[in-house]
Amino acid sequence: MVARASKICVLTGAGISTDSGIPDFRGPDGLWTRDPEAEKYSSIEHYMGDAALRVRAWQFRLSNPALQAKPNLGHVSLVGLERSGKLLLLVTQNIDGLHLVAGTSHKKLEEVHGNIREAMCTSCDWRGAMNETLDRVRGGETDPACMECGAILKSATVFFGQSLDPVRVQNAFQAAETCDLLLCLGTTLAVYPVAEMVPIALGQGTRVMILNAEETQFDASAYVVRGSLSKLLPEILGDLSEC
Ligand code: NAD
Repeated sequence: MVARASKICVLTGAGISTDSGIPDFRGPDGLWTRDPEAEKYSSIEHYMGDAALRVRAWQFRLSNPALQAKPNLGHVSLVGLERSGKLLLLVTQNIDGLHLVAGTSHKKLEEVHGNIREAMCTSCDWRGAMNETLDRVRGGETDPACMECGAILKSATVFFGQSLDPVRVQNAFQAAETCDLLLCLGTTLAVYPVAEMVPIALGQGTRVMILNAEETQFDASAYVVRGSLSKLLPEILGDLSEC
C-alpha cells in the first residue's frame, strides 16, 4: 500500500512517543492517572484563575519528560517518508515536538494541539523557547510574566477550554480528503475533531491503515497492523527508495 501510494497523509498520537519514554495521559501509568491535579495545568480556566496552580505548573514543566525526550525510530521513519517525496502532510495530536526534533520539516507538519517546547503570552503575540522561560523559573521566578506586556505565560499548547486553530484543522481535513493513503499511528482515534480525518478519507474511497497497539473504533473499515511503532515503522517504511 505504501509502495503504490504517492500522497500519504499521516496522523500520529501519543503512541508514537511512548517508546521515547513519554507516558500517555490517561493510561494506567499515565501522567494524569498518577497526578490528577496535572490535568488542571492544561485547563485554561484553572490556569488563568489560580496563581498557586500556575506556580506548581511551572515546577511540573521543569521535570516534564516530554521536554527531555529524544525521537525514536518511529519518528525517524517518518522523516524518511518525507524524503521519499510521498508525504503529503503529517498531522500530530502530540505536543512533545518530537517530529520537528527528528527532522520533519515545518511545511509538512501540523501540530494541531501545539508544542510544549514553546512558551506563549496569554495576552499579546509574544512567543519564545520554553527552555528560556524555564531558565527564569530555575532562576527563582515562580510564575514568570510576559517580558513584553506583563501578562500570564503558558506553554504554546491548546488547553482544555480553548479552541483549536481552525486553519490547522482545515489543513488536516484537506490532506485527509486529497491523500491516496491515510496512515493512523499510535492513536485511539477518540479525540475529535482530528479523528474525523478517518471518515473523511474513507468517504473519498481512500484506504486507511491503522498501526496501533490496541483496537480503535475504525478498525473494521481499515487495514490494521498491531505492534509497537518503533519496530513496525522502520519495517513498513524501511526502504522507500525501492518504491
Ligand atoms: P491516546 O493516549 O488516547 O492513545 C495512544 C494509543 O497508542 C493507544 O491506543 C495505545 O494503545 C497506543 N500505543 C501506545 N504505545 C504504542 C506503541 N509503542 N506502538 C503502537 N501503539 C502504541 O493518545 P491520542 O489518541 O494521541 O490522544 C490523547 C491526547 O493526549 C491527544 O490529544 C494528545 O495531544 C495528548 N497526548 C500527547 C502526548 C505527547 O505529546 N507525546 C502524550 C500523551 C497525550
